[in-house]
Amino acid sequence: MLPPNSTIGIVGGGQLGRMSALAASRLGYRCHILTDEPDSPAIQVAAGHTLGSHDDPAVLRAFAEKVDVITFEFENVSAEGLDLLASLRPVHPGPDVLRISQDRIAEKSFVNACDVPTAPWRAVATLPDLQNALAALGVPAILKTTRLGYDGKGQVLIRDATDAEAAFAALHPASLILEGFVDFACEISVITARGADGACVTFDPVENQHRDHILDLTLAPARISAALAAQARAIAVTLAERIGLIGLLAVEMFVAADGRLVVNELAPRPHNSGHWTIDACPASQFEMHIRAVTGLPLPPATRHSDAVMKNLVGAAETALWPQIVASPGLIPHLYGKAEARAGRKMGHVTRLFPYGALPGTFGIAAALGVLAPSDASTESSDHP
Ligand code: AMP
Repeated sequence: MLPPNSTIGIVGGGQLGRMSALAASRLGYRCHILTDEPDSPAIQVAAGHTLGSHDDPAVLRAFAEKVDVITFEFENVSAEGLDLLASLRPVHPGPDVLRISQDRIAEKSFVNACDVPTAPWRAVATLPDLQNALAALGVPAILKTTRLGYDGKGQVLIRDATDAEAAFAALHPASLILEGFVDFACEISVITARGADGACVTFDPVENQHRDHILDLTLAPARISAALAAQARAIAVTLAERIGLIGLLAVEMFVAADGRLVVNELAPRPHNSGHWTIDACPASQFEMHIRAVTGLPLPPATRHSDAVMKNLVGAAETALWPQIVASPGLIPHLYGKAEARAGRKMGHVTRLFPYGALPGTFGIAAALGVLAPSDASTESSDHP
């Protein structure tokens, strides 16, 4: 167990680092942030920081010297950088976990090796590879870069085999993967925390609704059967155990139209779909993350309330801030970013409901007040 007043090094300066640092400070720890962005959200609330590139060995060494244990809020550190950090300080989750999660092919191979379904997929290096993959998987299909994709970036939907060349040209020369299109009823995610002793605690599955490829709403709990929820939790625990996790693992899944669960993506860090836990749970995902990384015991991942989380994305939603803070039912969170660029996550709002009383679509829209979707619908519109 890391003693109080020790320093946790966090690679990455975004809102996930900010909320992790806030949780850490409540447990009596200091956080030291590694980022190349001077006024980043995490730096604003942390005890210290190292400014520089996470790919520069000298920067990584200087960072490691300042901290007792290292974790991540961001997965795209180079393999060599990870190994260097791990040679200097304990790193949780470890380099092997990050190597899997930062590459879609490694990730899908790992998930399939655990006997957990994903969308059917093929690795694509050349245009003939893509044509063969399309012949095998059919259309529609999604061509994705294997690395550095997020919020729908680095993805092209292929509706017809004749689109192959243009899709390939749009993403080449990145390494690519073709995925069969999953006809899904909804998207859910499960967050599990696993401590050094191997014990897992798992939050209830939640339902995620996207707008313009960016998470818009999370509904906690997901509106799925108890049996399916248990299955989703079991998948998350299996993957956390098999990957040898110490820390947090978010597992994004599709509930396919035929009722099967299909894993889409893994994130070994706090996840946007877990922000509701700050307000609806005795111990949030961020506290679980810090506890797992520092060797503290993990309390049960229970919630005292149902919740809806709404992201504040870009300038228009952020401009509603004065009304948001004047709405008693809305619990506001702002990340301290100076510029509200289009598609940028600036903050989020949580709305709590009594346990077991998550309302339906119209009730949620009404409860969100000034943030209600303009069409009063919370239906997913996330097909790329
Ligand atoms: P990703 O970056 O893999 O999380 O994909 C972003 C979004 O694109 C997902 O949340 C889905 O809405 C959609 N998507 C991604 N892959 C597939 C797929 N194989 N089938 C259907 N929809 C997908």
